[in-house]
Amino acid sequence: LVGREFKREDSIVDIGGVKIGGGQLGVMAGPCAVESREQLLEAATAVKVAGAHFLRGGAFKPRTSPYDFQGLAEKGLKMLAEVGQETGLKVVTEIVDVNAIDMHCEYADVLQVGARNMQNFQLLKVVGKANKPVLLKRGLSATISEWLNAAEYIMAEGNYNVILCERGIRTYETYTRNTLDLGAVAIVKELSHLPVIVDPSHGTGRWQMVRPMARAAIAAGADGLMIEVHPNPEIALCDGKQSLTPSNFNEVMNEVEKFAQLM
Ligand code: PEP
Ligand code: MN
Repeated sequence: LVGREFKREDSIVDIGGVKIGGGQLGVMAGPCAVESREQLLEAATAVKVAGAHFLRGGAFKPRTSPYDFQGLAEKGLKMLAEVGQETGLKVVTEIVDVNAIDMHCEYADVLQVGARNMQNFQLLKVVGKANKPVLLKRGLSATISEWLNAAEYIMAEGNYNVILCERGIRTYETYTRNTLDLGAVAIVKELSHLPVIVDPSHGTGRWQMVRPMARAAIAAGADGLMIEVHPNPEIALCDGKQSLTPSNFNEVMNEVEKFAQLM
């Protein structure tokens, strides 16, 4: 179902009137984690003004250490839904638990399956049965074929509204958090009709690299971007080093919009 053999033309995923794919760029931006209502509203207002279409933010964070901030759970989801309403942004947030599907469907517009759960087949089946678009991130060490098969799991349950997200992979390089594989974008766009977006924040782990990699992603044929933005990255509870300030994000958006017109 994911392949071009099944469907030749680009799929366009329509999220309540906001479209991604087939030449329509979708930008998802916001903090790594929802920390407070004030933090979320400040980030959301800034990304909306800059031209983003979606508010991202995690309420259930899959952290490497159990002692790191784990997220505000359902309280965070509620804040996302409220702030999304207030700002007119669609909400995308990560689901980590099959049993929490109804709760996520109540608050989110797009269900995110994170890199760590890309091959959580039970979770893929559950989001595949849900009546919400799914953002499927590439696994930390997933091959392109494993990633496309994960999308196939979702589609096999009847949910064809899948957006793929390249977010960098593990390599021998340690200077960057991950190695952003933009070649994968070009290949997947050829193999599959599904929209593909790029996350240069997790893909590099360094805010200084977000802008050039966002530009490169568009040049490689990406259908959109996911970018972490925090009102004050220095005090972020999660991923501050890769988060843009609102003013940096605004510059990235200006550049991306100009760049996209040339494509
Ligand atoms: C995220 O987008 O919040 C996230 C945890 O990213 P990834 O799953 O790509 O590591
Ligand atoms: Mn993050």
